[in-house]
Amino acid sequence: MSDDIKKDEVATTPDDDKKKKDDTKDYEDICYICRRPESKAGKMIHLPMNNSICICSDCMQKSLDAMNNSNFNYSDMMGSMNLQELFGMPMMNGFMEDPVPKSQKIKKKKPKEEQTPLIDLKNIPAPHKIKAQLDEYVIGQEYAKKVMSVAVYNHYKRVATNTMDDIEIEKSNMLMIGPTGSGKTYLVRTLARLLNVPLAITDATSLTEAGYIGDDIESVVSKLLAAADNDVEKAQQGIIFIDEIDKIAKKKNTTSRDVSGESVQQGLLKLLEGSEVEVPVGASSKNAMVPLVTVNTRNILFICGGAFPDLDNIIKERLNKKSSMGFGADLIDKYDQVENITDQVTIEDLREFGMIPEFIGRLPIIFTLQGLTKDMLVKILKEPKNAILKQYQKLLALDEVDLRFDDGAIEAIAEQAIRKKTGARALRSIIEEFMLDIMYEIPKDDNIGRVTITREYIEHTGGPLIQMRGVQALEAKK
Ligand code: ADP
Repeated sequence: MSDDIKKDEVATTPDDDKKKKDDTKDYEDICYICRRPESKAGKMIHLPMNNSICICSDCMQKSLDAMNNSNFNYSDMMGSMNLQELFGMPMMNGFMEDPVPKSQKIKKKKPKEEQTPLIDLKNIPAPHKIKAQLDEYVIGQEYAKKVMSVAVYNHYKRVATNTMDDIEIEKSNMLMIGPTGSGKTYLVRTLARLLNVPLAITDATSLTEAGYIGDDIESVVSKLLAAADNDVEKAQQGIIFIDEIDKIAKKKNTTSRDVSGESVQQGLLKLLEGSEVEVPVGASSKNAMVPLVTVNTRNILFICGGAFPDLDNIIKERLNKKSSMGFGADLIDKYDQVENITDQVTIEDLREFGMIPEFIGRLPIIFTLQGLTKDMLVKILKEPKNAILKQYQKLLALDEVDLRFDDGAIEAIAEQAIRKKTGARALRSIIEEFMLDIMYEIPKDDNIGRVTITREYIEHTGGPLIQMRGVQALEAKK
């Protein structure tokens, strides 16, 4: 028994305490009553019974005044106070748990002279450099990569110089249109990593007008704040990617209120343009228990993406209408065979699709991504810095096994992926399926030196080629 007590006593060493302090010194306290952070409410008073609860001097004064006015005997209260009732917090062994989780603390603002701009004009890579870095990871989509590099470069130039005085540089929010699995999310992810800015990815389908079931529109900013470690300044220069934007198109012929479609587009307008929003810290919805912080979205880059499935037909219809009048009328199905018809998208087409004009107006850069062809899929398998095949080769190399893929095998994987119609997303699942056996069987035998995956193995008509260390190759029959 006494041993147990000793163990508890040594559980926190001075070193641990110091580490904890270092860890939290960048974060500021929040008043437990009014929820204002220390930077707004002034120095906090830590309650003696639990150091992690703090109250600002205004609230403390108000409480004392209230007690005085009602002839409240403070010492009586302290004697008989039930902390659990007072704060509604759970207690453990007489001590309270930390009532304000770290995820709800806000990073302190640096004093003015210490503030270094996050993005320095000289350090923003030129568009061709951004594109060259994207090329290392993203195959094809040349036009999209070029447009994004220029847009991002201009955006951060605007942020770095804060040019809002005489010639106002417009915000470079983007709209990407491309089939599923063509690399929309991957492009944005890669871009944010290269620029070292925080990124939040949200699905437009989860958003609803405030007050309805679903996430508030402002929760997208809250996510970005979390991605920036609750550092408001960092979040204000981050990127927000809203996927599946086509799913919030205005619903046609509906009489009920469109809380997850048109209303969400309306709600996003002020965020896209730039405004001050109060967002909950460490939670997706506002309630009395979470602190709020003001985030300005003026310098946040918004990128929206969607597959816009029926857009092709809208474009074809428009082109047909234009050319089917008069003597020079074209054949009705002339545009059916045209490849990449989405390249010809206009704002009118997007309006027809159900996007409201004010919304499209706030996404000045609109571009399309191509569906992936077999050749592109083959390259995706082999070429990017972190290509899937390279990842498996590395895994087996750790067991000193040389993993190889025949050209025929790679083509067969790409062909199967095309049939699944989910773009590059299908690749991983196909590979994982047939690699399972290899990853299971190979480590069993230390003598295996090389494994070659063949087309036959992918198509289930044969096995892989197994070569023993220093011994002749022999075909493994399954
Ligand atoms: P979506 O267009 O639906 O957002 P994703 O960007 O999520 O598609 O793509 C899924 C995965 O496919 C990515 O994680 C990436 O590994 C791969 N991928 C897709 N397109 C490309 C591409 N052009 N180059 C390299 N990898 C790609």
